[in-house]
Amino acid sequence: MFPVMLDLRGRSCLVVGGGPVALRKALSLLEQGASVTVVAPEVVPRLETLSREGLLRLEKRCYSAGEAAGFALAFAATDAGEVNRRVSQDAQAAGVWVNVADVPELCSFQVPARVRRGALELAIASGGQAPFAVRRLRQLLERRFGAEWGRWLEAAARFRSRMRRLAMGDAQREAGFDRFFAETVDQASLRARAPSEAQLETWALASARATPDPAPSGKPQAAARGFVSLVGAGPGCPGLLTVRGRERLLQADAVAYDRLAAPALPGDLPPWVELFCVGKEAGRHPVPQEEINALLVRLAGEGKRVVRFKGGDPNVFGRGSEEAEALSAAGVAFEVVPGVTAGTAAPAWIGIPLTHRREAVRVTFLTAHESGQEEAAQMRWDLVAQDPHATLVGYMGVTALPAVVSKLLEGGMDPATPAALIERGTTAAQRSVIATLGALPEEAARAGMRPPAIFVIGPTVGHAERLDWVKRLVLAGERLAVCRLDLVAPLEAAGAEAVPVGIPVMPVTRVILSALPLTGCLVSSPEQLEALEGERSRAVCWCLGRETAERARERGWERVEELAAAADPAAIVRRIAERRLGATPEAPGTGAPPALSPVAIRSTIRGGG
Ligand code: SAH
Repeated sequence: MFPVMLDLRGRSCLVVGGGPVALRKALSLLEQGASVTVVAPEVVPRLETLSREGLLRLEKRCYSAGEAAGFALAFAATDAGEVNRRVSQDAQAAGVWVNVADVPELCSFQVPARVRRGALELAIASGGQAPFAVRRLRQLLERRFGAEWGRWLEAAARFRSRMRRLAMGDAQREAGFDRFFAETVDQASLRARAPSEAQLETWALASARATPDPAPSGKPQAAARGFVSLVGAGPGCPGLLTVRGRERLLQADAVAYDRLAAPALPGDLPPWVELFCVGKEAGRHPVPQEEINALLVRLAGEGKRVVRFKGGDPNVFGRGSEEAEALSAAGVAFEVVPGVTAGTAAPAWIGIPLTHRREAVRVTFLTAHESGQEEAAQMRWDLVAQDPHATLVGYMGVTALPAVVSKLLEGGMDPATPAALIERGTTAAQRSVIATLGALPEEAARAGMRPPAIFVIGPTVGHAERLDWVKRLVLAGERLAVCRLDLVAPLEAAGAEAVPVGIPVMPVTRVILSALPLTGCLVSSPEQLEALEGERSRAVCWCLGRETAERARERGWERVEELAAAADPAAIVRRIAERRLGATPEAPGTGAPPALSPVAIRSTIRGGG
């Protein structure tokens, strides 16, 4: 087989057949700009629509002998073997390339499986011998090759034209291309980055000088002008990071993140990105705001693309504007990428709508932090207390909760108003307490609720019982380190938070793993066991295969569960779910962590608590 890429723009292509396979062929031909004729007596409705829209020619009749001649390419995808053979023979007799779906002996060409990232195409083929293997390999590559490869290729094309405009010898040119590759591709992790224009220029000019700079091994050089993106990380669930936020992170030279934002860091962050943890966790000494501001200004001054990664939305009780002011004062260009704020996300995760046509027509976000005298003076508890058709969402309100509730009650709010406190909303460690306003402080104290938590007060909290959809996911509350990457998606679909772990474990993966407690590790090799050894006494070790399980026991893992080496995702989900159901509270002193159920603690709405 000889692989080629065909330019089909404006070429006449024939598709014989009207079922789903024929439709797929027709669509991929149309995508390439071919002029498509479909011949079949019966067709799926989508083909009718395409024909009505004038996008292809539809001939609703049987294929007639000899018809394949005169086309550039022909596809047969009917369920009548005789017709398929006819098309193949006609085409080959007329010198037309032909493909018959799933019948290699009738084909004069095969269509490879593709992974496309912009103009970059990876084609995979098995000469028609094992399409199933090709499909799986394609899925693997789909996961391994991120969207950034498309932008990488565009940058490569721009680099090529820059290099062409400069006078230099072949060796210098090749050295320049080597440098581009070394600077932009991490070969171990298969990650790529699109460099900035300034970087391209630096590399091109360096190549044009007589002796090219030796290609540095790892870290790319910074662009001439720095830029800071203030990116909202969302409330903790990694999937709630925005597309733009993710993009900025993958393009960054440096990331300064808060602890609350850490679980949402992308695990596929390129290894050259510098990571700065700038703290902000209740009870620990955070990095002072002025130091954070200074760090951002310094990094940008070095010409770096910097992401300031902040929990929730940067501008909702996040001091994002103070950082923006500092950047603006220092003349640093910046942007704000909003995030999903905990105030909307955490309620959603336990089934509380913030507004409701009949019950709540206003939402107030407030901070209940008592430290600032100024904030305390600005609060109008009297006003919010007398607004029964509203929802009150309070940030930083765990310690202040009793004081807040008594002010609301003093202000005349009904003590029977439904209320909730949600800890670590949207993460696997989420817990919540639902009670009446009057009873909430006591219930929260009894449950040992800790920051970060958000309170929600108002009539719509009453919906939580019925709309608590997360609780229904069989693996809600599980946070798993997953070494077999094909299991990540099925585990997530079942409600688990799955942290993909590759070997060697990248620094960012370590940050993500330690951001919240793990409930389990899914491993299939000794290297993986070793890499996750720190979890030995905390997490359940889910071992694919007997040998791995034996090794885990030898190495001192306290809770080892064996899975068949060939277990499919559904079986794995089932086993983990069953173990949760069967789990009895562990005896004290076993060192086991508390059960992390999404609603480990619930009290129903009742009067006096
Ligand atoms: N900018 C953030 C808020 C930062 S202030 C946002 O938009 O969400 C920190 C407070 O946010 C915490 O004290 C807590 O009240 C709230 N918070 C942040 N993440 C949370 C989460 N996952 N669950 C519950 N509350 C959260």
